[in-house]
Amino acid sequence: MEDQLRNITSCDECNSDYYTDISQMANLCPECSYILYGCQNCNHDFENGRCKKCFWSGSVSDYIQNIKDKNLNKSKKILSIIDFLQTKYGTTNILIIDHWDSDKEAIGLTEKSKQLLAYISTISDKDNDYYLALENPSVNNELVYSPIEEFYNLSLTELEDRLIKHLKLTD
Ligand SMILES: [Zn+2]
Ligand SMILES: [Zn+2]
Repeated sequence: MEDQLRNITSCDECNSDYYTDISQMANLCPECSYILYGCQNCNHDFENGRCKKCFWSGSVSDYIQNIKDKNLNKSKKILSIIDFLQTKYGTTNILIIDHWDSDKEAIGLTEKSKQLLAYISTISDKDNDYYLALENPSVNNELVYSPIEEFYNLSLTELEDRLIKHLKLTD
């Protein structure tokens, strides 16, 4: 087989092994070079946990996952809130939980341990008019959250303030 002659190296970003000849970037697999630099991606064809064409394992770094999260189908307003909060408090402290992928104007955020959830929605066209629901995990330890507090007509500052207190993030 020709494949045996192909060089394999590991990707600097996702650590997956890949065939060097198929990637346009040195030290990056086709998937990571596509997401990071817009290079041509491999049209992956997975078999037994590996792409047959580029040998990528499907692994994703935290950084890449974050970029993928940001490519969510959300309104600019929602994306800018996520960006603002993650820039200020760190992408590992503000995680996205998107149970509402059909709703462009809503997003769920949680913290590292995924115990505390905040649901944000932009219900009106006005600039500073946000809806926020703060939720705690259910006592039964199931992946069901129970709302504890709801706020309407918040400014971004008020939203941030309540959100970071709830998620126990401080400056
Ligand atoms: Zn990679
Ligand atoms: Zn591939």
